[in-house]
Amino acid sequence: MEKVDITIIGAGVVGLAVATTLAECKKSIFLLERHSAFGQETSSRNSEVIHAGIYYPKGSLKAKLCVEGNRLLYEICEANKIPYRRITKVIVASNKAELAQLEALSLKGDDNGVPGLKLITRDELKELEPNVAGIAALFSPNTGIIDVHSLMKYLADKAKFGGAEISYGSNVKAIKKISGGYELLVGDEGGEDFSFVSEVVINCAGLESDQIVRLVGIDAYELKLCKGDYFSVSGGKGKLIERLVYPIPHEQNVGLGVHATLNLQGELRLGPDTTYISRDEMGYDIDPAKAAQFYQAAKKLLPFIELNDLSPDTSGIRPKLQGPNDPVADFVVCEEKDKGYPGFINLIGIESPGLTAAPAIAKMVKDLL
Ligand SMILES: Cc1cc2nc3c(=O)[nH]c(=O)nc-3n(C[C@H](O)[C@H](O)[C@H](O)COP(=O)(O)OP(=O)(O)OC[C@H]3O[C@@H](n4cnc5c(N)ncnc54)[C@H](O)[C@@H]3O)c2cc1C
Repeated sequence: MEKVDITIIGAGVVGLAVATTLAECKKSIFLLERHSAFGQETSSRNSEVIHAGIYYPKGSLKAKLCVEGNRLLYEICEANKIPYRRITKVIVASNKAELAQLEALSLKGDDNGVPGLKLITRDELKELEPNVAGIAALFSPNTGIIDVHSLMKYLADKAKFGGAEISYGSNVKAIKKISGGYELLVGDEGGEDFSFVSEVVINCAGLESDQIVRLVGIDAYELKLCKGDYFSVSGGKGKLIERLVYPIPHEQNVGLGVHATLNLQGELRLGPDTTYISRDEMGYDIDPAKAAQFYQAAKKLLPFIELNDLSPDTSGIRPKLQGPNDPVADFVVCEEKDKGYPGFINLIGIESPGLTAAPAIAKMVKDLL
């Protein structure tokens, strides 16, 4: 039976970053992706924001890997001509009750090592963003936006150049622990199955990562899926803001609150909201009637928006380890040696800021090996 050193399951931004980084080790690497191209799931259904690392608990992987990933991602973009903009962001307090939360966020960001954060007054906010309503804000100079497709294409090309083999249309169906590694059963696009042996398996399967780990016999993780919808804003209103505009986040960070993002073309979108769904309800349709909720959430900070500017845009699903009433859950990035599965590396719960953190997650995986 064919043998490889390392198998990575999932060619989203994280699996691609891991493959690129490990390709430097000159091992034989297989990257398996069930779709016919990279990045067909969460990695192409997000806000495309390079987060600074403000929101996450001190010492958490989310905080550390976001701050490091932010720095690495800008370096990668700069060195490889991947389109990005350090567009910056303001988190805006709209009433006095939110001022304390804004200050707490500022301290949290400082604690996490986020550079350059600055609390600004209403007048300073007016100077930066004349069309945004609010009484104070936290200015983040290190927040940016990126063309994620270009990033993933760069990573896929670099992984292949480094010797990794990317196999599309390859659905991992079974994994068995054997002496010295794992035997994987994979179904291809033509309906044929093939098996091979891998010394190391790295689970980067995003929304399916808890299912993948169950295949090998570990029952310790259960993802809670949380859908986020976006509405686009028409009428050229993207020109009325210069940077990303966020409200004070939800308690327990279920999401960051419906915010205003601009893409590299200057188009304005609102979202994502948060709706927990079951696995049976998985899908990306958006109820157009939700426009009224988005309008209510957005007009507080962006009074120039009108209800009929909004139309359903895209949506994504967060692979969360945190249920609706749970405390904030961290990323899981670990080798399952203690559970009796040496060489099996799990990346589970890689929700936001997983795009930003991807290069730092990849470095961490390399260190685990
Ligand atoms: C609404 C929303 C907004 C977000 N905004 C941001 C943001 O602005 N900034 C940020 O940093 N992060 C953001 N994120 C988070 C970010 O998008 C994710 O953390 C990141 O894309 C996760 O990448 P991934 O490679 O782990 O997962 P995915 O992109 O989901 O990739 C997993 C891959 O595994 C494959 N796979 C699954 N099962 C199998 C199998 N059995 N066999 C073979 N292949 C399999 C899938 O097909 C998929 O391609 C957001 C997420 C959401 C949902």
